[in-house]
Order: sequence, then C-alpha cells, then structure tokens
Amino acid sequence: MPDQTFRVIRIISSVPLDEAKGRAIAARFAERFGIGDFEVHLETDPALIGGMVIFAGGFRYDYSIRGQLSRIAGSLKAHKSILDTDSQDAVSDLIRHNLDDALASFQENPLAPGGEDIFLTGETGSVGEEVSSAQQVVDRLRENLETFTSASTVDEIGQVISYSDGVAMVRGLQNCRSNELIQFTGQTSGIAMNLEEDRVGIVMLQQDESIREGVICKRTGTTVQVPAGKALLGRVVDPLGSPVDGLGPIVTETRRPIEYPALSIIDRQMIDQPLQTGITAIDAMTPIGRGQRELVIGDRQTGKTALAIDTILNQRDKQVYCIYVAIGQKMSTVASVVSVLQTRGAMDYTTVVVASASATASLQYIAPYAGCAMAEELMYTHGADVLIVYDDLTKHAQAYRAISLLLRRPPGREAYPGDIFYLHARLLERSGRRHLRLGGGSITALPIVETQSGDIAAYIPTNVISITDGQIYLESELFFSGQRPAINVGLSVSRVGGAAQTKAMKKVAGPLRINLAQYRSLEAFAQFSSELDEDTRRQLKTGERLMETLKQPQYAPLAVDEQIIMLYLANKGVLVDLDKEDTRTFLLDYLTYLSGREPDLLAGLAGGGPFTEQDMLAVDQSVSEYLPRWIAEHEDYGTAV
Ligand code: ATP
Ligand code: MG
Repeated sequence: MPDQTFRVIRIISSVPLDEAKGRAIAARFAERFGIGDFEVHLETDPALIGGMVIFAGGFRYDYSIRGQLSRIAGSLKAHKSILDTDSQDAVSDLIRHNLDDALASFQENPLAPGGEDIFLTGETGSVGEEVSSAQQVVDRLRENLETFTSASTVDEIGQVISYSDGVAMVRGLQNCRSNELIQFTGQTSGIAMNLEEDRVGIVMLQQDESIREGVICKRTGTTVQVPAGKALLGRVVDPLGSPVDGLGPIVTETRRPIEYPALSIIDRQMIDQPLQTGITAIDAMTPIGRGQRELVIGDRQTGKTALAIDTILNQRDKQVYCIYVAIGQKMSTVASVVSVLQTRGAMDYTTVVVASASATASLQYIAPYAGCAMAEELMYTHGADVLIVYDDLTKHAQAYRAISLLLRRPPGREAYPGDIFYLHARLLERSGRRHLRLGGGSITALPIVETQSGDIAAYIPTNVISITDGQIYLESELFFSGQRPAINVGLSVSRVGGAAQTKAMKKVAGPLRINLAQYRSLEAFAQFSSELDEDTRRQLKTGERLMETLKQPQYAPLAVDEQIIMLYLANKGVLVDLDKEDTRTFLLDYLTYLSGREPDLLAGLAGGGPFTEQDMLAVDQSVSEYLPRWIAEHEDYGTAV
C-alpha cells in the first residue's frame, strides 16, 4: 500500500498549467504507481525556463530546460579533464546543437512535447542528433550525454528528516540498496548504510552545512567508485580518488567499485614467489610471499610505519606496484612519508591514498576499500603484483565504530558493532594470488594494527591476527634497547611465506632461529652466573652478533644475496673476534670486498640459485683472509686517533 505522502502528485511547470491538463498528467502517474486516491498540487516556477518537473511515487521526473542544462553541465564537468582545447570547442558546438533541439521541442509544446507517452518511457527525444564534427571524443561525449540525459530525467528521491554529525536520516528512496551512493546538492554525497522500513540512514562523505531537514537527495544506482589504473601511480589521492597533491587532474576513465568480491578458491594460485622486504629479520624468519597477508602489529612508535615504508622502497625494480593507505593519521605524518617516497624515487610505482585524522569518519571508513580497488585494477587488468599497506586498521575500526554508533547500531564488545570482524575480513580476503590461467598477478597486504601496552589479545588485534597469514610483532622494549627494527622473533610468524623463500635463504635461516632461541635462554641464565665456560661464552657472543646483524637502520634495505652472506657468517660464529659494535660495519665492508672478488656467487644467490658447498668454501676462505686484515686496519685507526 503506498505511503500517505505518496498520494500527492506535485507538478511544477514553467508557465501556469490548466487544472484539467494537470489532472490528466497526474492520472497517468497515479495509474503507474497504483495510487487510487491521488491529490494534484500544481505549482509554477519560471526558473525552470521551460518544461516541467513532476514529483510522484517517490520519484522526480525532470523534463525542464533547467534540469537538462544542469545535467549537461554535470556531464561536461566529468569530462573536462580528458578534453584538450580543440575538443572543447567541438563539444561546445555539440552542446549548442543539443540545446537548440531541446529548446525547439519545448517551444512547440512547452508542457507535453511529443505526446504524454514520454512521461512513461522517460525519454525526451531531444538529444542525439547528428553533429557534423567527427572527432572521436565528441562522439564519446555525445553517447554519454544521450544516456545521461535520458537516464537521469527520472530520479528516485528522498527527503532529509534529520541530520547531525554527518549522518542523515532520509524518508523515501524505497528501492535504495545497501551501500548505494546517494547524491545530495552539488558535490555532496553519502552512502546508504542503514535500510530501515520507513527511512534510510545515510553517512555523508563530505561535510556540508547546507544539509538540513527537507533537503532532497536522489539515488545514483551505483556504489562508490574510484578512478583506478596506472594513471594513479605517483599520485596522492583522497579515498574518492580526487588528487590532493596539487599535480592536476588524474587523466583516466577507468573506474572500479570500492567493494568487490574476493577471488574464489579455484581462481587462486599457490604462493611461491617471495616479496622481499629488504629487512633481514623479516626475509629470513617471517618471509612474505606475493599474495600473502602479513600483519604488522605493535605499540605506538615502534617502527610499524617505518617497516612498511622500507618494504615499499625495496620494491624498486622488482615489478611490484605499491599502494599506501593512510587512515586517521596526522596530515603532517603522511606528508613526511610522501616526501620520503618521493626523494627515494618510490613514487614512480606507488599511489598514496589519504584519509587523514581530520577527514570525515566515512572517508576513513572507505579508504582501505578504495585503495584495494586500485590494487585490484592493477592485478585484474594488468596481471601485476601489488603491495598494499593499510596504516592502520585500528583507526579504521574506530572510524567504523563512530559511524555505527551514530547510526544507532547496537554496540558490542569495546563498543564496536557486531559486524566489525566482517569489516576487516572482507577487506583482507581480497588480497591473494590470482591463478596463472586467468592472467596471474597478486595483491600482498600489510595491514598495520596498533596495540595498547603490548596487548595483542585485545579485540581488534585478535580479529586481524586470525584473518591474516601471520604477524610481525614489534616491541617497545626492544625498540628502546636499540634493537631496531624491534621485531620480537618469538611472537612473529609467517604461515605462508616459507614456501616462497629461496633455497639459499632457507639454508641460512634454519640455524638462525635455533641460534637465536639458544642465545635468549643462555642470556637469561648468564645473568646469574659469573663464570662461564669457553663454549657458552662463544655461544653468547655469537648470539649477540646475530642480534647485531639483524639490526638495520631505516631506508637501508638489503638485497637477498647480501642478507644470505651476512647471516651465514653470523651463524657460523666467525664474527666473535670482532667488537660487537663493529659487526654491521664489517659485514658491509666485507660485502663490498666480496662483490669485487666473487661477483658470480652473489649474482647466483640474488637470482634465487642455491648456496653450494663450493660457495661456502669460497666465502670461508675469503673471510679468513679479510677479517684479520680488517681488524688490523681498524685497530691501527683506533690507536692513531
Ligand atoms: P605510530 O604509532 O605513531 O604510527 P609507528 O609505530 O608507525 O608509530 P614509526 O613512525 O615508523 O613508528 O617510527 C617511530 C620512530 O622510530 C620514527 O622516528 C622512526 O624514524 C624511528 N625508526 C623506525 N624504525 C627505525 C629503525 N629501523 N632504525 C632507526 N630508527 C627507526
Ligand atoms: Mg605509524
């Protein structure tokens, strides 16, 4: 049964309409919507220029010249960025032509051009005539204009009942779907999140003071879409894909919905290619494969962002595109990340999506999905490998909690709504490796989660831990003791990446874990006893040097061959003769020396080749020559100073 409000059919015309004609038009609409007992309200508004606007059954039928003009203007605005000056001239011709047509048809009969049938088909029959200009762009625009004008003469509309804190309650929009994009005045839009019996809860994407009770909004029939593709590389954009880096418009017509189903199981391929982070501790002990989801978790200021940025920097020349999604961070923090990426040449293959702390909660909420859509475009269309960093999902969950509370959804544990698990599961499920038969490609996800005083058993951390294929746990204590990156080896795991590690890396990483575990137990024990036998002391010293080898400053990623040689030497205990503090300097010097002496050996390892007995002999021999020399030189220098 139609709602009481739908009984009224409003007809607004540019010139006064006589009663009988108005009733006849209204009768057609009443018949269509099955309104038996309808009322007609006739109004006049010269601002329409010509034609009329009819409100019936929750829809708005716009047959006015003003409506047509604003649709053309909207369409033009959308295309402005892809047109050069020549085409713009041609386009103005086209518009003038179309407009003349429209005006002519309205002038013939300003109220019912071409018979009343048009009201039921929704076509104006006024656009789409031949235009002399043959330019392609004009053709394309004309096609757009045709569909645009005919499709959007009819709008399903709603009326704002209440608006506060970025959430609008709207009456009408009966056919509105979940997550649909709802257009308000001008540039403002929102997402339909709550579908209730008599109203729709809409979360606004932009802040707009002009929204108040009675304002009209309309359905768009689509979900939120963002520009995607290679045109976005090197750019900094907001979650709707609008540039915020001042480098001009993004020239692309490719768009993707921000919500998209994940790859099905049979469309997935086993993960067997490594994604090198360039950080020795990770590549050796918690290796990441292309298509894996590895959580980076830790308290505030423990180097989580630094770890992700280093990983992006290390993708240079590795055919991996990167997307960095910054959620709820200070704009100044994001700016410094972008400048690091720029100065180190990583922006060539990277897109940054920013929803800063000052953005609306809804923009922060859609940011990771928007970033994921951009990654998907590269994977699905170009078969590319993509790395996406979500920094961080704690703030994302908080933004979603804010929205849910404003929508009056029931709060659950820690006041998060019941579907908080689904929030992150549906995001992270979209990463993975696509089957080669479909063209391959992968999305590797590095979600970041912040803990409070190391509590990894809190709600959001446990959720995300259970969704991902492993976690890298960063610890404040290690960080402040100078062990950076502050990776807690015991609590970090990778459930997938082992299959993607090179053979040579596996060979040196095996003993590494054991040696470190031994070192940790010995270290605790050694604190109580002052007299240690030679063997134990040596083991302790080896452990200390291993820890030194795993230290790495920011922005200094290491290639896989360098990591292998370093770990091999540290494991073997040949570094015990060195001062602990010299470990890293020595290893780097030695690598330079070795690359001059055995370039083939290093190239082989870099290419994923095995670390043979012969290679080991060569390394052993060269280090036994080089180490004493290095120590001697170093001591000379020390005494000279
Ligand atoms: P937040 O919780 O604020 O997001 P975070 O965990 O992302 O912090 P970062 O901002 O990455 O931490 O790093 C914190 C500080 O530690 C920075 O000043 C950074 O320069 C420094 N830092 C991070 N990693 C290293 C490292 N490997 N070596 C030296 N300094 C580092
Ligand atoms: Mg950070």
